[in-house]
Amino acid sequence: MSRAGIKSFKQHKITEQYDVICIGSGISCMTAAAILAREGQKVLVLERHYTAGGYTHVFKRKGYEWDVGIHYIGGVTHPKAMLATMFHYITDGQLEWADMGEVYDRVRFGDEAFDFYKGPENFSAKLKEYFPDSADHNAIDQYLDLIKQVNNASSTYFAEKALPYSVSKMMGDQMRAPFLRFAQQTTLEVLEELTDNRKLIAVLTAQFGDYGLSPAKSSFAMHAMLVNHYLHGGGFPVGGSARIAETIADVIADAGGLILTNAAVDEILVEDKHAVGVRLVDGTELRAPLIISGAGVFNTYEKMLPPAQRQKFQLDEQLATVTPSVAHLNMYLGFEESTADLDLQKANYWIYPEGQYDHDANVAAFLDDPTAPFPLVYISFPSAKDPLWQERYPGRATVDIITLAPYEWFAQWEDTKWKRRGDDYEAFKAALSQRLLEVLFHYEPQLRGKVAHYELSTPLSTRDFVNYAKGEIYGLHHDPNRFEQTFLRPQTPIKNLYLTGQDIVTAGIGGALMSGVLTVSAIKQEDYSGKIRRQVLAEMAA
Ligand SMILES: Cc1cc2nc3c(=O)[nH]c(=O)nc-3n(C[C@H](O)[C@H](O)[C@H](O)COP(=O)(O)OP(=O)(O)OC[C@H]3O[C@@H](n4cnc5c(N)ncnc54)[C@H](O)[C@@H]3O)c2cc1C
Repeated sequence: MSRAGIKSFKQHKITEQYDVICIGSGISCMTAAAILAREGQKVLVLERHYTAGGYTHVFKRKGYEWDVGIHYIGGVTHPKAMLATMFHYITDGQLEWADMGEVYDRVRFGDEAFDFYKGPENFSAKLKEYFPDSADHNAIDQYLDLIKQVNNASSTYFAEKALPYSVSKMMGDQMRAPFLRFAQQTTLEVLEELTDNRKLIAVLTAQFGDYGLSPAKSSFAMHAMLVNHYLHGGGFPVGGSARIAETIADVIADAGGLILTNAAVDEILVEDKHAVGVRLVDGTELRAPLIISGAGVFNTYEKMLPPAQRQKFQLDEQLATVTPSVAHLNMYLGFEESTADLDLQKANYWIYPEGQYDHDANVAAFLDDPTAPFPLVYISFPSAKDPLWQERYPGRATVDIITLAPYEWFAQWEDTKWKRRGDDYEAFKAALSQRLLEVLFHYEPQLRGKVAHYELSTPLSTRDFVNYAKGEIYGLHHDPNRFEQTFLRPQTPIKNLYLTGQDIVTAGIGGALMSGVLTVSAIKQEDYSGKIRRQVLAEMAA
């Protein structure tokens, strides 16, 4: 990207002074940077990778382009929805969204099909067709009511995170309690209270891959927020995910700021209890009165803070209370025919083993033995979702296939470098790739014999490109315990150092974006979600 707002540290040395330094260019930091830029602050966003955007970045190879961490986003296709107004503000209205249509997710247990329809009424009506029993109807109604209750309770829970510690001590417990009532239970515990129909539970939890944790382990609050997020359908950035960083970079640049790639932070400089700057891996020191890190809580506390600070504030003890999420395999495929010619649809597939309705048992069996059936395979058709794709890549189409995979399977190659990991690594990947391809061909048989290019990323690719030490797909596990941790908030014990990112709210573009808003709210001690929303709605009405 050769835009004014995005430069590489290889060509561009920093000589100016900035008001704020953000570590990492994921959607969380870019959001915080854009809001602060719109408040007139000059922000420098430092990104380790050669491309800006964190998980919103795309990579291009052999005449194709693939999105890394975006397949669909909820709450963006209706311009007045909360998330849509936030995106409007941070991109200054430059980013557009394409609607995925009536069906956003297609769940398959073998050839048994369950489609998720946009809109709570349609979602519910369709589910009731699949499950005609009146007891199931009752369970579905109660389930959707619980989803609503969790989402109502979530706003004060997250608002509490923006309070300073001193105020939180007085009001925190009260603000967190209604949400924690749901968050402290697992998804399975809650669903088993509603129904004993295993198939219904398996279908209702079919999107568990969106937060990476099976029903007996995940927090019901996470499940409910995710389901709610997509209930009004999915959207995809027009022009592809790269448009997100491009449009936000323009807003940051308007205030004199910059996203600087190839700029890995080695250490956060702390003097007299205050964060005062950062040291890059090449030794360059950059100073600013405010430092925000969106590089993940483990990276920030374990790798960037001097040991003395970690000890002083018992940060290692805090980190010991949370666990990194599972890792994943991502297969990127290219076809030399158009999406229309290949008859690819916008909706995603969630594919499960035939007749196996226990996600937890399926995941456990696979993690134990990589030759066991895939516990879930997610297939996405990005070239079908972007209305500008055919203009940008005529006569071409892409497909992504994702499944879970533990880092440990790849640990034996952790000291090797990308593209030079050895024949045994390639052979292991090739075997997994062939199995994933067979799943694709079962559901889209017209694609057999037409794959022009494919490559498989592993947890080591995630580690090397996005800097999650164990290749974790979603930062921290979304288990009940995570939601109890009060240290997962913007304020840190070190003055002028703030956290942002999926770890302090939740994974997902929506969660990570809202973490950026939350962090600015904590810094300014003002509710920026309300402020931005009111401003955008007023502009729309004018
Ligand atoms: C395969 C996959 C599919 C997904 N699909 C979807 C989806 O369809 N919809 C959805 O809503 N969400 C999806 N997500 C989740 C979503 O992409 C993430 O939750 C979100 O983008 C995280 O944003 P973030 O800002 O917290 O962190 P990140 O995007 O991870 O950004 C952190 C950044 O910090 C940088 N960094 C790390 N260390 C340093 C350092 N030392 N110096 C400088 N920079 C550093 C990293 O390089 C990275 O760019 C998906 C994720 C994955 C992995």
